[in-house]
Amino acid sequence: MIPRKAEAEHTPTWKKEFASSLRLAELVKSAESNSQLTGNSDVAELAEINNAFPIRINKKLTERLRKGDSDTRERVLRQYLPHSDELKSNPNELQDPVGDVAAGKTQSLIHKYQHRVLLITTDTCPIHCRYCFRRDYPYPQTSSQQIESRWGEALDYIRADQSLNEVILSGGDPLSLDDEKLTELIQALEGIEHIKTLRLHSKYPAIIPSRITSKLLHSLSNSRFDVVMVLHINHAAELSKELTAAVSAMREVGIHCLNQSVLLHGVNDEIDTLVTLSRELFASGILPYYLHLLDRATGTAHFEVSQERADELMQGMKQRLAGYLVPKLAREVAGADSKQY
Ligand code: SF4
Repeated sequence: MIPRKAEAEHTPTWKKEFASSLRLAELVKSAESNSQLTGNSDVAELAEINNAFPIRINKKLTERLRKGDSDTRERVLRQYLPHSDELKSNPNELQDPVGDVAAGKTQSLIHKYQHRVLLITTDTCPIHCRYCFRRDYPYPQTSSQQIESRWGEALDYIRADQSLNEVILSGGDPLSLDDEKLTELIQALEGIEHIKTLRLHSKYPAIIPSRITSKLLHSLSNSRFDVVMVLHINHAAELSKELTAAVSAMREVGIHCLNQSVLLHGVNDEIDTLVTLSRELFASGILPYYLHLLDRATGTAHFEVSQERADELMQGMKQRLAGYLVPKLAREVAGADSKQY
């Protein structure tokens, strides 16, 4: 039997950091001591909000932001701190705002657009974004193991459709899977000849950069795929030296690094914030890709930015940035055959 101490020593850094995430209990303590970490919610509301969509915040991020200015801290944490507005119902909000369920071909595979499919690999994320478009997604019986057991039927679907050339690993966050599990999945996909590109959508490089382990880099770079890593960063204050090092390691092994942001009221809906984000992403080796309009999931209306304001911000970015630094403004419409630009 492996002694407990030795076992703990083998726990990867990223898992330890994930395990130290702040959850409901820590926020309740914070509310009781009147500290800054509660959004504007009291203890009873925190429990109610947590019940609708559990709280998970990265501890290191909150510590790092504490050293910066209070406006930036508030803007960044607004994405992750529960807010009483989440409890207000809004007629425009939907449990499945982007039509994922209707586009489900198996329990873990979504096929919306030509030539590519999206595989739900896990129900777990390194942090919970309060504006999440999949906050009510019916993950199969909400167990990662049960999701994995559905990969077989998803792989059969991909194998049978020769028009496909790209698989997107999503979730949840695909990097929540262990390196071994992810390698197994990548190898299974490699066996499907018509798949040429593997794309991963992940919040880990920004939130827990140590997730980019040498084993993971080895698996991705040794596959026959063109690999694209799409990060999810909404504010330049989420960038860090550790993230830049992780991106540099990915680029060294040939992984293309792009970023998708969501335009969020009170977080990044200012021209200076967006211009700085694009410039600093580029300085970190990442190309801006999409700026998404909010998907109207339940409890997210307080994040909405109007189309008019979004157009104004895009115009400002076009004036101030080189074309390759201007992300595409995109809206995902349930049932449409492409994103709307
Ligand atoms: S990382 Fe993506 S899937 Fe996970 S909570 Fe945030 S928006 Fe939702």
